[in-house]
Amino acid sequence: MNYDFELLVIGAGSGGVRASRMAAARGVKVAVVENRYLGGTCVNVGCVPKKIFVYASEYAEKFEEARGFGVNGQLENFDWPTLRDNKTNEIKRLNSIYNNLLENSGVEILHGTASILDPHRVKVGEQEFTAEKILVATGGWPFKPDIPGAELAITSNEAFYLDEFPKRVVVVGGGYIAVEFAGIFNGLGAETHLLYRGEQVLRGFDESVRNFAASQITHKGVRIHTQTDIRRIERLADGSLRCQLNNGDTLDADCVMYATGRKPLTEGLNLEQQGVELRSDGSIVVDHFFRTTVPSIYALGDVIGTPALTPVALAQAMKLVAHWYDGDNEPLSYDNIPTAVFCQPNIATVGLSEEEAQERFGDDLRIYESDFRPMRHTMSGLPERTFMKLVVRASTDQVIGAHMVGAEAGEIIQGIAIAIKAGATKAMFDSTIGIHPTAAEEFVTMR
Ligand code: FAD
Ligand code: NDP
Repeated sequence: MNYDFELLVIGAGSGGVRASRMAAARGVKVAVVENRYLGGTCVNVGCVPKKIFVYASEYAEKFEEARGFGVNGQLENFDWPTLRDNKTNEIKRLNSIYNNLLENSGVEILHGTASILDPHRVKVGEQEFTAEKILVATGGWPFKPDIPGAELAITSNEAFYLDEFPKRVVVVGGGYIAVEFAGIFNGLGAETHLLYRGEQVLRGFDESVRNFAASQITHKGVRIHTQTDIRRIERLADGSLRCQLNNGDTLDADCVMYATGRKPLTEGLNLEQQGVELRSDGSIVVDHFFRTTVPSIYALGDVIGTPALTPVALAQAMKLVAHWYDGDNEPLSYDNIPTAVFCQPNIATVGLSEEEAQERFGDDLRIYESDFRPMRHTMSGLPERTFMKLVVRASTDQVIGAHMVGAEAGEIIQGIAIAIKAGATKAMFDSTIGIHPTAAEEFVTMR
C-alpha cells in the first residue's frame, strides 16, 4: 500500500521534533503536524522561558551579595516588559531554528490540528493524509482544580505573558512548577505565597532535601503555607483577587497561579475510537517500544505518563527511531534519570532517595550528608546554605543516590549522574581528587 508518508508525527515538541528529524535523516518520508508552536512546551512555555525568568530573578539577590565584597550597586527598578519581550523574542528565534532544522532534514511541516480518522489516516484542518505509522507526541496541558473562581487564576502558560508584573502572587501546588515560579516571582520582587495541600512541598524527593529546600526557600522570602488550599476566588472592586482558604483565612493577591499538575493532551485525537488504550489519568498505554494497542499508532513524551522531562522525551524519540530503523532492541532504561528544580538555591538529584533506598534495601545502606555555608556566603553574609547527600548500598559500596540543594546543583549533579550510571562505588568517589575551592568537591570528601 502506498501512503503519503511513512511516518506522520503529531506534535512538534521535544519528542516529536527529535523523532521526525532522526527518522528523516535515515531517508524516511516524514511529516510533523503542529497546531500551536514549533518546539512545543519546552521551548515556548516550559524549560527555556522558565530558565530565562530564573536567571532574571537572581539579580536582586546578587546586588545584596555584592555588598559583602565591597561592590555597591543599587537595584533601581525591574522592568517586566523588557524581560517578557526579550524572552518572547528569544523564543521566536528558537521557533525559527526549529523550523529550519525540520525543513533542512526534509521533514514536511503541516500546520494545523490533527485528529486520527483510522489507524493509517490523519485529518489536519480540512486535509487528510495517510501514513504507514502515526506517532502521537502531543505532550500535556496544565490542569486547574474545579473551584468557584478558578477562571480568575492563571497557569504557567499565561505567567510568561502577563501584561503587568504582579505585586502580590499566590502560587498553588508543591511540585516543580509551583516551587520554581514561587522563586521567580519572589526574586523579581513580588510578595509571594506558596500554598500546598500536603505537609511538605516536593513530594517524591528525598525527605531531607524537601525539608532543607523548604527552609532555604522560606529564608529567601517565599511564604509557604502547607496544608492549605483555596476554596474559592473572587474579584474585589479594586481588581485584586481574594482567595478564601480551607482554614477560614483569606489571602488577597494580584495574581493567582495554579501549578497543580499537567494532564496528557489527547483531546480531539479520537484515540479511544481507534482502539488506543488510555489510563484513567488520560495517558496513553504503550509497550517498551512506544507502540499503543493499535499496531500502527505509537506515542511518546509527556502524553504516555513517563517522567515529564524534555531529555526523557528526546531519549524516547531516539530509542524509537533506533528500534525502527537500526535494529535496536534494548528497551530504554528509566533508572537514574537526573533532574533539577530551578528554585533558589537549585535542587538536583539522581538515583534513589533515602526513603526509596530503604524500601528496596532495608538497612543495607550508608548515608552521607553535608550541610555547609558556601564560601561565597561567608563573605556576602546571606544565610544561604548548601546541602549534599549520598545514598550508598552498604554491601556493595555502590552509590545509588546523590542529592544536592545549592547553587548550580543541576550543573554539578549532571556529572555525578554519569558516575552513578557507571556504577561508581563510594570508594571511587573517595579516591577522586577534588577541585578546590568548589562546593562540588564536597561530593568526593564526604566521610
Ligand atoms: P510538548 O513539548 O508538550 O509538545 C507537544 C506538541 O504537540 C505541542 O507543541 C502541541 O502544541 C502539539 N499538539 C498537541 N496536540 C496537537 C494536535 N492535536 N495537533 C497538532 N499538534 C498538537 N523539562 C525539563 O526537562 N526541564 C525543565 O526545566 C522543564 N521546565 C518546565 C517548565 C514548565 C513551566 C513546563 C510546563 C514544563 C517544563 N518541563 C521541563 C517539561 C518539558 O517541557 C516537557 O517534558 C516536554 O516539553 C515534553 O515534550 P513532548 O514532546 O512530550 O511534548
Ligand atoms: P507536579 O505533578 O510536579 O506537581 C503538582 C502539584 O500540585 C503537586 O504538589 C500536587 O500535590 C499538587 N496538586 C495536584 N492536584 C491538586 C489539587 N487538586 N489541589 C491542590 N494541589 C494539587 O506538576 P507540575 O505542574 O509542577 O509540573 C508538571 C511536570 O512538568 C513535572 O512533574 C515535571 O515532570 C515537569 N517539569 C519539570 C521541570 C524541571 O525539570 N525543572 C520544571 C517544571 C515542570 P501532591 O504532591 O499532594 O500530589
